[in-house]
Amino acid sequence: MSILIGVTGGIGSGKTTVCRLFHEKGIPVIYADEISHTLTNTNPIIKKNILEYFGKESYKENTLNRSYLAHRVFNNPKELAKLNSIIHPYVIQEIEKQSQQYSSHHYILIEAALFFETELHEKVEYILAIVADEEKRIQRVCERDTKTKEEVQQRMQNQLSTEKIVEKADFVLYNNGTLSELKTTIQFFDTIFSKL
Ligand code: ATP
Repeated sequence: MSILIGVTGGIGSGKTTVCRLFHEKGIPVIYADEISHTLTNTNPIIKKNILEYFGKESYKENTLNRSYLAHRVFNNPKELAKLNSIIHPYVIQEIEKQSQQYSSHHYILIEAALFFETELHEKVEYILAIVADEEKRIQRVCERDTKTKEEVQQRMQNQLSTEKIVEKADFVLYNNGTLSELKTTIQFFDTIFSKL
């Protein structure tokens, strides 16, 4: 079986970019957030449970009403935990299924914004945290999306702090430099991961 390595980090830290660069080197990457998005719209049991608990407003034209749910779970740990408990068992099941397809690889990356907040961290052997300075993250996200600085800061406040993520992670990748520097760092981590 392959070694599963979780990749996580706060908004704009560079998770997706890091995973893309590993992928370019031939490393399989499974995107947990994409799986979750797909399943909330396609899995009838998830849909039924969300509708039962969060009400009919939680779906709009058969599609999960993300802004409504985000509003419901915002600053409400109990409701957030409930939502995660409905979705995550199926996300984990799907990750396990997909990772079996890559069993010939020494290691596989699983990208997810939330690891420590869900039971996902128990399913991987190691966690790689992606970290970058707050100002850099704000600047990068504002260039990437139409978000304002305040919106990015608000999201940061609702995520686990960088200190907590670093404390819990097994490996930390600092992504404050250029893309070319990031590629060199990824080469370094690939060498380490290949020897685990
Ligand atoms: P989110 O949590 O919002 O999904 P993320 O952690 O996946 O974000 P990315 O989307 O990978 O972050 O990166 C945010 C933006 O910063 C992207 O536009 C990406 O191209 C850019 N970026 C990431 N790393 C670097 C870097 N080392 N140099 C320059 N730009 C970078």
